[in-house]
Amino acid sequence: MKKIVLGATFALAALFTACDGEKKGQPETNQNFTYEVEEFADIQVLRYKVPGFEDLTLQEKTLIYYLSQAALEGRDILYDQNNRYNLAIRRTLEAIYENYQGDKESADYKEFVVYLKRVWFSNGIHHHYGEEKFLPGFSKDFFKEQVKALPADKVPAKEGQTVDQFIAMMEPVMFDPNVMAKKVDKSAKDKILASANNYYGEGVTQSEVEAFYEAMKKPDDATPVSYGLNSRLVKENGKLQEKVWKENGLYSPAIKRIVYWLEKSLPAVHNYDKSQEETISKLIFYYKTGDLKMFDDYAIAWVSDNARVDFVNGFTETYGDALGIKASWESIVNFRNEEATKRTQTISSNAQWFEDHSPVDNRFKKEEVKGVTAKVITVTQLGGDCYPATPIGINLPNADWIRADYGSKSVTIENIMEAYDQASLHTGFNDEFVWSENEINLIKEYGFMTDVLHTDLHECLGHGSGKLMPGTDPNALGEYSSEIEETRADLFGLYYCADPKIVELGLLPNADAYKSEYYRFMMNGLLTQLVRIEPGKNIEEAHMVNRQLIAKWVLEHGKADNVVEYKVRDGKTYVVVNDYEKLRDLFGQLLAEIQRIKSEGDFAAGKALVEKYGIKVDPKLHQEVLERYKKLNMKPYRGFVNPVFTAETDDKGKITDVKVSYDESYIDQMLRYSKEYSTLPTYND
Ligand code: ZN
Repeated sequence: MKKIVLGATFALAALFTACDGEKKGQPETNQNFTYEVEEFADIQVLRYKVPGFEDLTLQEKTLIYYLSQAALEGRDILYDQNNRYNLAIRRTLEAIYENYQGDKESADYKEFVVYLKRVWFSNGIHHHYGEEKFLPGFSKDFFKEQVKALPADKVPAKEGQTVDQFIAMMEPVMFDPNVMAKKVDKSAKDKILASANNYYGEGVTQSEVEAFYEAMKKPDDATPVSYGLNSRLVKENGKLQEKVWKENGLYSPAIKRIVYWLEKSLPAVHNYDKSQEETISKLIFYYKTGDLKMFDDYAIAWVSDNARVDFVNGFTETYGDALGIKASWESIVNFRNEEATKRTQTISSNAQWFEDHSPVDNRFKKEEVKGVTAKVITVTQLGGDCYPATPIGINLPNADWIRADYGSKSVTIENIMEAYDQASLHTGFNDEFVWSENEINLIKEYGFMTDVLHTDLHECLGHGSGKLMPGTDPNALGEYSSEIEETRADLFGLYYCADPKIVELGLLPNADAYKSEYYRFMMNGLLTQLVRIEPGKNIEEAHMVNRQLIAKWVLEHGKADNVVEYKVRDGKTYVVVNDYEKLRDLFGQLLAEIQRIKSEGDFAAGKALVEKYGIKVDPKLHQEVLERYKKLNMKPYRGFVNPVFTAETDDKGKITDVKVSYDESYIDQMLRYSKEYSTLPTYND
């Protein structure tokens, strides 16, 4: 509900101008650090850096160390939540991997390794994004043979089961496409019976679930708990009951370990931040009791806790349940990026200057404007449902009444965005679509920082600028309102990216850097965003419409001066920007007109702009772009391995330093987690 995910369509976001809610920070120049870890199936695995970790205090590092341990202890919970056979399958596959004696070049074995990597990536047998079950590429015979070759104590059979019975139980779960076909099935008649997740016991129906939780609700409750959030609902002796996930309830061994590390962190947080000490204490109390009132208590403490080190740990998001009741376990540990947060503060505190100097008619300017400040964070550890596939921003807590009464934390994860951006430089995408070395070098040097700046200007200032004329209906632009609004915010950001004030404020290093964003914006709007449109379709999504609207309008209105043009070389179409200063003038002119349309509610003019410039796609150019893109063979989904934190201690066991390293491989990390952070039984009934 509130997690901002870089999904399939946005897997390439770093190549395009970021969307609402996606924000990025300053880049790091890196030597001897490779973001790319490995690729398999439709997945690319990356790693992320933790810039600034060395500069934290020992207290902060210690806290991060303990919270990071707690972040890894819930991994088994998520496997079991996703499907009740996931732990059995993972343990069987890992045993085979470590005991395998056969030919490692055989097709079956290679497919086996791919399948194991996919199970790790998805925390189970269903695709992490599409929710459908993916099937092994190896044969049933191979599987049978390998299980039989395992030492008896390595086969995670149920009590009293023979190996043959175990194999017979696992085969349909793994190989039959019709068995447990979807983790979450929202299109089925009975969404609960059809979903293969483990949030509801066998035989529990959708109408039973709905009636059960409806009966719990109290009328006129202004502060309702999140009913059913932290339990499995099962039917025992014909009666529905909740098995609560708590210290002495379901998932007890894993929750005890999470609590263990949280308790270890208390002395470190005691002298660090009193409000955070309270936050962690409340979380511990909630894990011990499983009481959802305590969860709300914790969430309220968390949202007002402003310590630099911060974390999410618990049953949080409900995407994995077709009815949105049960929450999957997740964790993110992070610290505030003071530099990047300063950047959004600088922009916000100068909001009035930007408003006063914008190229729009004075009648449409706000006399008093307030900027928005967002918190930018650096992630140090990902766990549970945030690992390996990762959100790029978080907005929590989810309870509406807590958000209304106490606010929420909205954060963007800069080091993850940076990793996406850096990895994108190596995909061959720019070599294929960018006109020349000049522009490629501009993008390499300034691409990330200007993209981030444009997004900040869009979010912190653009949407908040300008005002409606007295008597203008706020809904006057009707079905074109979001396209016009995004156009307005984007233009505000584009216009100011090139302003000397930006360099003066230290937001860009020099007067040429903005050209990277201008080039990328035009290339994207005129050419490359078409890779996200299916053949024969027009553009519909508001941000994409706004980008093409701006790019095509500027192309046409700059024609006489040849400001921007399409050029064809070796049968390939490129975008070329010939005059950056005039390009800025044109952005300013269009901004003035768009603000007029908004302020006066000029529906006809808004409609005409969107329809003339924003929607239509040239089918020939579209086809060309799609063909060129396909040849790059880019992976649609990406995720991350974690850095490794090692604590150095004195002879009394007190932490004296924490070191971070980045050299663990994907396979090593997964196998290690399965040994060091795996406490749940294979079958959790
Ligand atoms: Zn926006």
